[in-house]
Amino acid sequence: MKASVGGYARAVDLRHALDLLAQGDGMARVLAGGQSLVAAMNMRLSSGDLLVDINHIAALKGVTREGDRLRIGALTRHAEVATDTLIAQHAPLLRKATDLIAHAAIRNRGTIGGALAHADPAAEFPACVLALDAMVHVDGPDGARDIPAADFFTGVFETMLREGEILTALSLPVAEEGEGQVIHELARRIGDYALAGLCVVRRKAGHRIVCISVGTHPELATAAMDKLDAGDVAGAVAALRDALDPPSDTQASAAYRRHLAGVLLERAIADLNGESA
Ligand SMILES: Cc1cc2nc3c(=O)[nH]c(=O)nc-3n(C[C@H](O)[C@H](O)[C@H](O)COP(=O)(O)OP(=O)(O)OC[C@H]3O[C@@H](n4cnc5c(N)ncnc54)[C@H](O)[C@@H]3O)c2cc1C
Repeated sequence: MKASVGGYARAVDLRHALDLLAQGDGMARVLAGGQSLVAAMNMRLSSGDLLVDINHIAALKGVTREGDRLRIGALTRHAEVATDTLIAQHAPLLRKATDLIAHAAIRNRGTIGGALAHADPAAEFPACVLALDAMVHVDGPDGARDIPAADFFTGVFETMLREGEILTALSLPVAEEGEGQVIHELARRIGDYALAGLCVVRRKAGHRIVCISVGTHPELATAAMDKLDAGDVAGAVAALRDALDPPSDTQASAAYRRHLAGVLLERAIADLNGESA
């Protein structure tokens, strides 16, 4: 089946894109990498959309260090996240995550802003940005807003983005000396969405754990984090399994996902401690 498109407009800058979205009468959609949006349109999950192409907006591109924070433009492609030297140095979790996302063709087009706006509970970047305590920057009809990652994701494919807003960038604290950042997941085949996964960030202030594919949206696993901060790995695994309420589907049962999350946490801790095989 082919998509039923209501129109296409290429925005030249952010103001132009916001004006086009405002004129769309509720039917305008931001087109970034198109890897999720066009697939949804081809399945007629959405039709009559006016596509507002943001791919040529220079202000949405690039990775910069600003003091003790790293700013990553919304249009940064997954393949660029994989190779950017600032990201490798200051947010290695994002670089590691790209190894687990889909395939080269999708990574060449997909954008980090698109992945966050799409908010698939099985996607890696939403969990990573919460584990890294990032800030999501958006602009829209009512002006610019900064939304903590902890508030941004609200449900399955749901975020705090309002009608007519564009996610412009994310920013996050650069990794401190000795910080550990790891991501572990299990998928049926390389490049598939994970049956379950998790990110762990170890900072002086404590651990941050966020799971993938075991809930409606990324959330901090606070009970497990407290146990890990106290050095109780077995307690953290038990607390994580207790706290999760994963879905059952044709890929995996809830019980299997809950079990996997605990195993992955053990692997992540071994990885952080330099003990993994
Ligand atoms: C076969 C396949 C396998 C995949 N496997 C994985 C995987 O294993 N892990 C994973 O994480 N992802 C996976 N993806 C998704 C991929 O990473 C997408 O690139 C990503 O989810 C969406 O990014 P995009 O730039 O293509 O966004 P688009 O498809 O262009 O947009 C997605 C949604 O976000 C909105 N949007 C996009 N950018 C913005 C913005 N800046 N501001 C406001 N709204 C915006 C769009 O309007 C649309 O609603 C897969 C995709 C495919 C097709």
